[in-house]
Amino acid sequence: MITLFGLLSLASTGIALIMGTLVISRNHREPVNRIFFALCLAIAYWSFTKYEHRIAGEYDEALFWIHISFVWALPSAMLLHFVLVYTGNERFLQKKWPFMLLYGPSVIIAVLTIVSDDYSGLPKMRPWGWSIEPLHGRLTIFSYFYISLLTFSALLICLRFFLKQDDPRKRIQSGLTLAGISVYAIAPALSYILLPLLKIRIPDISSVTFAVGVGGIIGYGIWKYDLLSMTPADAAEKIISTMSDALLLIGTSGEIKNINNAALDLLGYEQAEILGMSAEKIFPDGWLKECILSREGTSGSIEGVSEIETIVLTRSGEKTPVSLSSSKLHNQRKQLVGTVCIARNISERKRAEDLIKMQSEGLISRNAELTALYEISNVVRNSLDLDLMLRQALDTITSLSVFNIEYKGGIFTVEGETLRLLASLHHADNFLRAHDGIKLGDCLCGQAARSGEIIVSLNAREEDRHTKDYPEISDHGHVIVPLKAMEKVTGVLYLYLPANAEIDNRQLKLLETIAAELGIAIENARLYTETRTLSLHDPLTGLANRRLMALELDKALARAKRTGKPFSLVMADIDLFKNYNDLYGHAAGDEILAGIAKLILEEIRRIDLGARFGGEEFLLILPDTDLDEAVEVAERIRCKAAATEFTCSATLKTSGITISLGVATWDDSIGSEDILVARADTALYMAKNKGRNRVESWKRMNIT
Ligand code: GH3
Ligand code: MG
Ligand code: MG
Repeated sequence: MITLFGLLSLASTGIALIMGTLVISRNHREPVNRIFFALCLAIAYWSFTKYEHRIAGEYDEALFWIHISFVWALPSAMLLHFVLVYTGNERFLQKKWPFMLLYGPSVIIAVLTIVSDDYSGLPKMRPWGWSIEPLHGRLTIFSYFYISLLTFSALLICLRFFLKQDDPRKRIQSGLTLAGISVYAIAPALSYILLPLLKIRIPDISSVTFAVGVGGIIGYGIWKYDLLSMTPADAAEKIISTMSDALLLIGTSGEIKNINNAALDLLGYEQAEILGMSAEKIFPDGWLKECILSREGTSGSIEGVSEIETIVLTRSGEKTPVSLSSSKLHNQRKQLVGTVCIARNISERKRAEDLIKMQSEGLISRNAELTALYEISNVVRNSLDLDLMLRQALDTITSLSVFNIEYKGGIFTVEGETLRLLASLHHADNFLRAHDGIKLGDCLCGQAARSGEIIVSLNAREEDRHTKDYPEISDHGHVIVPLKAMEKVTGVLYLYLPANAEIDNRQLKLLETIAAELGIAIENARLYTETRTLSLHDPLTGLANRRLMALELDKALARAKRTGKPFSLVMADIDLFKNYNDLYGHAAGDEILAGIAKLILEEIRRIDLGARFGGEEFLLILPDTDLDEAVEVAERIRCKAAATEFTCSATLKTSGITISLGVATWDDSIGSEDILVARADTALYMAKNKGRNRVESWKRMNIT
């Protein structure tokens, strides 16, 4: 049976469908439109089931449609959802539990509507069609309470929103929304509270008021005023309030007129305290202050800056680095109205940049240190000549850029209780004289050598420990590093610092590492020299042995060939030495041998070489010496030996030891140095034959 109320429900379905479609077709991307469309569908469904159950011919049919209307609580939940989105409060629904609280009960109600009779109660045929007589069971009471709560929440939120609107169009639209909700809310109040009190019964028209109020009135407001698609001003405001960059609007008197949330976060102020405050307080940079606050026409007026890196002062006085752009704002009459500043916090970037800079500086200095070590190692490894090696090492160390030291200094080696200056750089004679053979414990270097500890002196002249004074001494700092090999100090490296300059721990550590290399190098060079001396010298006499003799002979020959100068050999043999041995024993004989060797060394030049040729035979190599000169040398030695009183075995004094000597000189006719040696030997033989204690030369021998 078709009744008026039945038709009203059908009309509600139509209204809801039409308005929903109108709104969604206007802008289907807008979230408010989407939720409104869904809401209209739910209303349409609900209204249609209402229509069907009212016009049902049979009781069972009516009951069927009442069960089918299970979504009836859903539109109220969707209404609140719509209002939250419409008023910009959708963030409340972003969490799970408020969403569950909103929609959960309507789902429960939907299920219970299908499976229980609590809500549907007993449909009764009334003049306006089938009507339910609610049983007022728990489900019904809960449902009414839930729906009322949703509806009044929506009403209050909307009312608050409406009161806040300044824009007339927005005010009308939100007013229509408020009215639409009110129309819907009045219906249950009328049909369940007011009219029953007056004993007037009317059918439940909530689906109709829902469709008319919400679908019709609100839908019309949204469709007509289309405010939900943003105006450029709205969009700008929204962008400004949500942008991550800080934005400040500064008035012509330098006062802060507007500020966004990001700027409040950046500067640490509350909106109320910063509005009206002078912008000078946040721009410590004078130039920038001038640029931002300058009025047009005044000196230094600049239109704006673009992405300059500067700092702003926060409320707590902290300086925060920002990238800042500013621009002057003018009105249509080209009058200055203010300045807009956009600042981006770049602290993170700065921190990262500083970190990278620090790390790369660390890497560079580490690299320089490694290079320094490599260079020193190279110098140390490539030279066995101690003097040369130390000079090169000193030159390398003082040239290293990792140290803040002067190109000046020196290296002592420790020899017993004395320091010997083997390498030095940029020293005046006065200095060298003052430091010649200083003792362990003397001055700073001697103390470092004795203690084995590094000494750093900011100004050596003011130090009591600095005892070596010399003319021309000036203010200077020192770093003095003992050079050690296996805990034994083998030398001292002293370097110059500018007066009062510090040297850091890292540099000291590096110097220690270099010192360890040098210390070992000195020790190695010393061992090498010692071993070399031992292997090329005769231990009894200290003269060169046959091996060194052969080497020097080669050298002398090569030199003679190159320079064309003569060179001579003297072969010497002690006369009747066997007898001496037999008389006094071999030990005494050995002492005579050593005495003769000493005597020979005293009589020859540094460039000559005295070698022990055999048991009691000696060979002298005399470069740049002709036969006559060589005979002269031989004669001198002979005379001296004969005149010397040798002391043997502490008490025995022996004199009258004589030697015979044979001399030969190189000439181009000689095929090899062996022949020359043989000639000297022949000359010696002649001397022996001629009565001993005499000098014979090969040439003279031939002549005579
Ligand atoms: P002369 O040379 O005058 O003909 O007579 P001589 O007795 O010196 O004869 P010769 O040169 O042949 O003898 C070498 C002697 O020198 C034999 C040995 O007793 C002695 N002699 C050789 N080497 C050493 C040595 O290292 N120590 C000592 N004490 N005597 C040595
Ligand atoms: Mg002999
Ligand atoms: Mg002899």
